[in-house]
Formats: sequence, structure tokens, C-alpha cells
Amino acid sequence: VSEGKPPPLPSPRRNSKFLQANMRILVTGGAGFIGSHLVDKLLEKETNEVIVVDNYFTGSKENLKKWVEHPRFELIRHDVTEPLLVEVDRIYHLACPASPIFYKYNPVKTIKTNVIGTMNILGLAKRVGARVLLTSTSEVYGDPLQHPQTEEYWGNVNPIGVRSCYDEGKRVAETLMFDYHRQHGIEIRIARIFNTYGPRMNIDDGRVVSNFIAQAIRGESLTIQAPGTQTRSFCYVSDMVDGLIKLMEGEVIGPINIGNPDEFTVLDLAKKVKDLMNPKVELEIVGNTPDDPRKRKPDITKAKQILGWTPKISLLEGLPLMEEDFRRRIGLNKN
Ligand code: NAD
Ligand code: UDP
Ligand code: UDP
Repeated sequence: VSEGKPPPLPSPRRNSKFLQANMRILVTGGAGFIGSHLVDKLLEKETNEVIVVDNYFTGSKENLKKWVEHPRFELIRHDVTEPLLVEVDRIYHLACPASPIFYKYNPVKTIKTNVIGTMNILGLAKRVGARVLLTSTSEVYGDPLQHPQTEEYWGNVNPIGVRSCYDEGKRVAETLMFDYHRQHGIEIRIARIFNTYGPRMNIDDGRVVSNFIAQAIRGESLTIQAPGTQTRSFCYVSDMVDGLIKLMEGEVIGPINIGNPDEFTVLDLAKKVKDLMNPKVELEIVGNTPDDPRKRKPDITKAKQILGWTPKISLLEGLPLMEEDFRRRIGLNKN
């Protein structure tokens, strides 16, 4: 008769020699723009299994269609504001609309997604012992009074504006991540993503790069929201995905800025798109929306030093790659 505690029950997943090397990865919002590129990259590795949960608010199955029958892939229609039960080792938590027109469409839902959604994902991580990466945003810096923005900067955010559902939502999401880490020992990673562009962005997504490219292809005027001197720094999506994976698998919890520090005014960007894609289109100054940040540029010293990451694709290299994808989807070839 044995004494004391019985031996722990074997876990079939952990004890299988075959499965031990495997990493099961959950990607919330994986049917979206960045998420679907991340899934492509993760599934290149034979030992990764990927589960995507998405409510298809701004994402689509189309973005993942090449994986649908794949044995290491699973797609679940699920809203992260509801509890979720899956067993995973890693969680990339991206679920949240990223374009201002979509996150402002139902601001209360945007807050629920950021707050209740992130809490559910952290509860899940706590139960299964998974490491979680949150895709936060440069919007946590608001209309920044420090330039470029370092991770130490606390930001200049309007708490009651029309963008607050998103930027305050992400700020609470970051707080939740740190409190679950401090209180429950959850392994966390926080990426502060700066403007990202590339193939598969929604054509009518409303963001500046996708708008300008779609307008140039259709021969419409490029709508520069006044004054046009506001700046952004644009990161190509493959660089972004590499940065997120490096952060997840590295030792540092962050927050870490991930973005391309090459800064352009919106007017510069319009001129570049016009020159590259359709010199006949006009540039039109239109009204802007409230609380539009006047400048934005990441300080990526930390990402360089700690993750060994730097973006590789310049704007002039990335724009034509996106043009090709947009022309195919809009159905208008270059003449
Ligand atoms: P996206 O809108 O293409 O992707 C978001 C995905 O999340 C979509 O597939 C959408 O259907 C899904 N989603 C939204 N709410 C959900 C919910 N409640 N439950 C389940 N799924 C939900 O946007 P993206 O550009 O791929 O952004 C991905 C992440 O990166 C977001 O968290 C965003 O805040 C962050 N981010 C993006 C940028 C950028 O420039 N693209 C900049 C900063 C931060
Ligand atoms: N949760 C989840 N999946 C899990 C575990 C938890 O969705 O596998 C949700 C749970 O419903 C709760 C949230 O995560 O609303 C936070 O979980 P936690 O354990 O931190 O809090 P509690 O359940 O004690 O309120
Ligand atoms: N913008 C613009 N024309 C457009 C869409 C956006 O001039 O058709 C400007 C917008 O005012 C902002 C910048 O481009 O200054 C970036 O906007 P976007 O919505 O892409 O992202 P944000 O960085 O504001 O989240």
C-alpha cells in the first residue's frame, strides 16, 4: 500500500514524445490583417499548431482560406467577450478592430473587446499556464508631447473623446496584463504596434495607406485630411510579424515599440502613392476627425537591442507589394 500523495495523473498531451515538441498557439483576431499574416508565418514551422478565434467583425475567412483544411490548423467563430475554453501554450491576443472607422462604429463594443476580451484571455492563460502577447498600440501615447515616443512615455490621451474606446481600451488591456502578471504570475508580452500596412488590408478600411492606394487605382482623388502635415511611420506587415514572434519567444515582457521609424507626412505619402501608382490623380484636402495625433514615430532602440529586430522593408518597397494585392482584389490592372 503506497503512502502519502498519489503520483500526479499523466497528461496525455505533455507525455507524448511526439507532441512534446509541438507548440499549440492561439491567435485571437487571426482572421484579420496582421493576424492572418502571423498565422502564415507560424504555420511555416512544422511543430506549430494554430487555433484562430475570430468573430469576423473586420476579418474574414478569405484571409485564411489556404489553411482551412490543414491538419495543424483550426478556425473557430468566437467573440472574445465570451469565455473561451481551449488548451494552448501561447496566445497572440490581437482581437480588436484597428481602423478608426471600425472601432468608432460601436465604441461600447470596442471597450468590451479590449477589457472583457482581454480579461477572458488572461483567465484562460491563468488556467492553462500559457504565455500571452497583447498587441497594444502607439495610440496609448495619444497626441504625444514627446517625439519620437519611447516606451517610458506615459502618453497624452483624451479620456472622453471619440477615439478613447480604442486608446483607453488598450491602456486598460495593458494594465490587466501587468496585474495578471504581478498577481497571478502569468507570463506576458506587450507589443506597442505602430501603423502597419500591407496586402489583405480591407480595401474600404479607412486607414490612410489603404485609402490612398484604392483611390489611386480607381482614379479617384487622394483624400488628405487637413492639414496633411501630420506624420506617421509605416511598417510593412512581414516586418511586424517577425517582431511579434521575436517578442513572444524572447525574455522581455515589454512594453516594446514595434514599428518602422521612417516618418512621413500624410502629404508625402500621398505624393509617393500618386507617383508610383497613378500620376493623373489629384490630391484633395478634406476635413479631419477629432483628436487626430499630429505626429507619430517610434523609438525602437529597445526592439533593436533586446530583440535584435529592425524593420527591413522600406515604404518604397512595401507600397508596390500592396498595390499588386489591391489591384487583384479591386479588379483593375495597371495600364
Ligand atoms: P483587423 O481589424 O484586420 O483585425 C482584427 C481582428 O479581430 C479581425 O479579424 C476582427 O474580426 C477580430 N475581432 C474584433 N473584435 C473581436 C472580438 N470581440 N472577438 C473576436 N474577434 C474579434 O486589424 P489589424 O490591423 O490586423 O490589427 C490587429 C491588432 O493589432 C489589433 O489588436 C490592433 O489594435 C493592433 N494594432 C494594429 C495596428 C495597425 O496599424 N494595423 C496598429 C496598432 C495596433
Ligand atoms: N476564462 C475563460 N477561459 C478559461 C478561464 C477563464 O474564458 O479557460 C474567463 C472567465 O470566464 C473569467 C475571466 O476569464 O470571466 C477571468 O478569469 P479569472 O480566473 O481571472 O477570474 P474569475 O473567473 O475568478 O472571475
Ligand atoms: N488620413 C488621411 N486620409 C485618409 C485617411 C487618413 O489623410 O483617407 C490621415 C489621418 O487624418 C491621420 C493619418 O492619415 O492623420 C493616419 O490615419 P489612419 O486612420 O490610417 O491611422 P491612425 O494612425 O490615425 O490610427
